[in-house]
Amino acid sequence: MNKNYIDSLIDDIVYANWILFNEGVLDAFGHISARNPENRDTFFLARNMAPGLVTRDDILEFDLEGNVVGNDQRKVYLERYIHSEIYKYREDVDAIVHSHSKSVLPFSVVRSQPLRPMCHMSGFIGMQVPVFEIREVAGESTNMLITNGNLGRSLTNVLGSHTLVLMRGHGSTVVAPSLKQAVYRAIYVEVNAQLQIDASRLGPVEFLSKGEALATQETNEGQVERPWNLWKAIAINAQKSWQSTEEG
Ligand code: MN
Repeated sequence: MNKNYIDSLIDDIVYANWILFNEGVLDAFGHISARNPENRDTFFLARNMAPGLVTRDDILEFDLEGNVVGNDQRKVYLERYIHSEIYKYREDVDAIVHSHSKSVLPFSVVRSQPLRPMCHMSGFIGMQVPVFEIREVAGESTNMLITNGNLGRSLTNVLGSHTLVLMRGHGSTVVAPSLKQAVYRAIYVEVNAQLQIDASRLGPVEFLSKGEALATQETNEGQVERPWNLWKAIAINAQKSWQSTEEG
């Protein structure tokens, strides 16, 4: 693998930050990382900052203990252990999105209404989505953040082999075998959650069967380049309009 490959991965991580901000999955909080394909014991993640403002220079490399590789002293995300622990235990995962997105979060607190795939774009959600309850591992009075390796490992245990884990009263974490699939899943789990809330107001919801979830996932995730190119173009334009506003 050559330098250009890593360079274009870093570019894509920057675009992914802009896309997820632009599509309403991330706001000033939340983050996306990608495993280093040249050293599977490290991953790339922005420093502590709003995703919509991330540039190439802000992407740092971390080891699987959550430490920055090298001497960069800039402030890092408190919840980087979500990423370090999942990469440590899930060999199949090469990208992770942690978000507090608005439509998914309600499903982390209403146990009687489990999040389930109800549209053909979101079969990756699977038949059952685990919910991480931080009280079970850290007591009644935490700040609810994943601020150390032990909490990251507990979250990873609850994630198991699933594609996402809900975090009660906090948000969710989505994993994928590639950066573009992680972006796709983070966006479509939010879409599915909104659709599920809307549909359940009309009446009982007919969800995808297991076979439909698997078959639609296979088909749609083979086409992630198409939405990626659209989301990226929109995000780049949005960035330009900000810059021109600053200059003007
Ligand atoms: Mn968080």
